[in-house]
Amino acid sequence: MPADVLSQPLQFVKGVGPRRAADLQRAGLITVEDLLLRFPLRYEDRARLMPIAGLRPGMTATVVGEVLSSGIRPTRRPGFRLFEVVVRDVSGAVRAVFPNQPFLKDVFHPQQQVVLFGPLEYRGSGLQFSNPEYEIVRGDTDDPEDAQVHTGRIVPIYEKVGSMTTRMQRSLMHQLMAGLPQDLGDPVPSSVRQALFLPSRRDAILQTHFPAAGVSVDALNAFRTEAQRRLIFEEFFLFQAGMVLRKRQQAQYLKARPVVVDDRLRAAARKVLPFKLTDGQKMALREIVTDMQRAAPMHRLLQGDVGAGKTIVALLAALVAMENGFQVAFMAPTEILADQHYMTIRRLLEPSRFRVTSLTGSMGAAKKRAALAEIASGITHMVVGTHALVEGAVKFRDLGLVVIDEQHRFGVVQRATLRGKGQHPDVLVMTATPIPRTLALTAFGDLDTSVIRDLPPGRQPICTIAKPESRRDDIYRMLRTELEQGRQAYVIYPLVEESEKVDLRAATEMAQTLQNDVVPEYRVALLHGKMKSDEKDQVMGAFARGDVHVLAATTVVEVGVDVANATMMVVEHAERFGLSQLHQLRGRVGRGAHASTCVLVYQAPLTDQGHARIDALVETTDGFVIAERDLEIRGPGDFFGTRQSGLPTLRVGDLVRDYVLMEEARREAVAWLDDPNEAQPLVDYLTVNWAQRFGLVAVG
Ligand code: ADP
Ligand code: MG
Repeated sequence: MPADVLSQPLQFVKGVGPRRAADLQRAGLITVEDLLLRFPLRYEDRARLMPIAGLRPGMTATVVGEVLSSGIRPTRRPGFRLFEVVVRDVSGAVRAVFPNQPFLKDVFHPQQQVVLFGPLEYRGSGLQFSNPEYEIVRGDTDDPEDAQVHTGRIVPIYEKVGSMTTRMQRSLMHQLMAGLPQDLGDPVPSSVRQALFLPSRRDAILQTHFPAAGVSVDALNAFRTEAQRRLIFEEFFLFQAGMVLRKRQQAQYLKARPVVVDDRLRAAARKVLPFKLTDGQKMALREIVTDMQRAAPMHRLLQGDVGAGKTIVALLAALVAMENGFQVAFMAPTEILADQHYMTIRRLLEPSRFRVTSLTGSMGAAKKRAALAEIASGITHMVVGTHALVEGAVKFRDLGLVVIDEQHRFGVVQRATLRGKGQHPDVLVMTATPIPRTLALTAFGDLDTSVIRDLPPGRQPICTIAKPESRRDDIYRMLRTELEQGRQAYVIYPLVEESEKVDLRAATEMAQTLQNDVVPEYRVALLHGKMKSDEKDQVMGAFARGDVHVLAATTVVEVGVDVANATMMVVEHAERFGLSQLHQLRGRVGRGAHASTCVLVYQAPLTDQGHARIDALVETTDGFVIAERDLEIRGPGDFFGTRQSGLPTLRVGDLVRDYVLMEEARREAVAWLDDPNEAQPLVDYLTVNWAQRFGLVAVG
């Protein structure tokens, strides 16, 4: 059985043994298939090498040659030793230095054939490789494998795994290739393979690890060869097929009852609406309400930049649910935000007959008990809260709609738990971190999406400037001018968990300086996450009323806070914030009719990344552009910040690099699953393996 070879544990492969198997296992490599479906880090063309005489400073090059001499060279710095190797080929000789790696004296010996790869620099005494990667391609013994596998061809370079060097892995891989059965089986259906002209799985694996002569090394290193693309496609196809399948399974559930929309309901909505909806809001609302009228539960993501006005859209959806006799749960990631939503919603619902309750972790026990009873009995129609809503004690009489604000702050499990409190309720998740196109298809492939692209009318563009700390006086002058005109300001200080105490002290001192020295005739208040909830409420309330003029805060105001009279945002140590975070912070101003300013105060010198972030922010206020930039700077893994973000663990594919393939895989997966007869074996496979294979949490 061919499948047996692939599922064979590496431990039992010749030449591996328990120790190496353990090393491989730590890297997640357990079966033969795991190893075969792991791409090399890069490729080297050892068929065509650079002659040593052709090396120039600034190049990154691979050379092969014979070790002339090697040894440890003392340096003038005490305790610092350089290991040095001189390597020569027919054209000349070059030196390589390795700082503080004295053990290399047992690795390099004269007359060995070695490969060096790395950047070249010019030092007083000549051209040298500085800390290059190296491989001993021929030792003292005359192993015929050396000539065919490790030199004289395009060779794969693997990431070192424990004790397994790249060379050992290459040998192992070569041995596995020789034992690869003709018929490997293929999870990609043959019709899809034919339609896309994909090579067979077997060929793709062979060509990925030991490319034929003449294949472009640049294409290999860009992971763009037919063979590599075919393996990436396979991974994406399985992922998307599972995603589509999950979505279809969810669509089979029936909610308690679909909502009905009539003129009475439309009139009720008009009564609570404080302004005219923008076109984007109208469109999003229409999509949402259409979903709600269906028998299958809604799973919709509402995207919209900071300030686009998602809350009112969610509230109107809530009204539709409540008018139909359902309860609504509205979950926000922080207490400040939950309280703010609660106040807004309570005010807006005043002319209606619906009752809103708030539920947060810091509520007193008696108050909480009362809230829980009201929710369970159905006296309360809508509950606005934090993740306290997820707790077991929270029971609804008839939960019909779940709204989750700033969904990236919540894990998959929390979302599922809240959903589980109703009978397949409609779910609307909202995010103000626009999701880059490249990630949306993956992280939210099982959600339908609505996007609000416009902003409410009358918004003034926010002017963003970056200033080094040394120009603090300018910043304070601007702050003063702003306050003199009756406006308010935020001054944000970073607070990271690792240095929480120090940061908190710095934030407190900053607030004191502002109050005592900078704007003594105005009121400055401090707000941070360590304060008691009612203290926070008090400060926030005073700021919202205009009793406090400057809110000195840590990032607790990052998401959602809405005070229209605040027109200046000063971010201290802007270099310590992520791009999306800065964009969120900036989004706290520019919410009213007055022009707003955002000042990013940084400590020079900036790192390249810090520079890139600040530049991006100064250049644009478009959250969608910023999201793409953030992804470029951080990479997909860190983009969402939380682990349970729903991004799959991928072996060969890269969400950004291979985006087009992901789109193709999505299309093919949808088409394939439309054919129920043909699809069954794959459906069975995915039902069992999908969540685990992609490292995702399985939630019904
Ligand atoms: P976000 O999408 O960032 O959550 P909010 O829902 O908090 O944005 O809305 C931002 C501000 O814009 C709020 O003060 C809200 O009342 C206001 N707003 C929303 N929609 C409109 C509209 N169509 N016309 C005028 N103001 C609006
Ligand atoms: Mg919001």
